[in-house]
Order: sequence, then structure tokens, then C-alpha cells
Amino acid sequence: MSRCGTTQGYDDHKAAGTAYCQPCRDAAAAYMREYRQRPEVQRRERINRGARERALTRLAAEHPGRFAALLTEELAKEDA
Ligand SMILES: [Zn+2]
Repeated sequence: MSRCGTTQGYDDHKAAGTAYCQPCRDAAAAYMREYRQRPEVQRRERINRGARERALTRLAAEHPGRFAALLTEELAKEDA
């Protein structure tokens, strides 16, 4: 892999089905960090978070017992 340490190298690993090397992981992580800073991406993520939160609220209202049990389980993991 001649392009290791670049996002192209990361894509090469994916296409070849080979394990990602650390320089390629680092390059992909740096790209994604910068990508998530873009205003249009932040706006879309904010919209998605709001929609997800509203959907969870509705789901909890439809299945209060199950939601309470799942919430208790997840909170217990935080204490572990
Ligand atoms: Zn690589």
C-alpha cells in the first residue's frame, strides 16, 4: 500500500479487505474530525439529534415500562 497515511490509503485497505494500519486510521480520523466541523454537517447533525430525541420521547410514551427498564440498564453500565 503505497498511499498509507492518507485517506486514499484508508480507502485502499477497505477495498482490499486488509487491516487498517495506524497511519491510515489516523488520516481517516483527522479527515472525519475536520469534516464534522463543517457548518452544513454541524447543522445536519443538530437536526438529526433533535429528531432522534423527539422520536425517543415518543417511543418512551408508547412503551413506558420497556423504556424505563432499558434506561435503568444503561445507567447501571455507567456506574460499572
Ligand atoms: Zn495503511
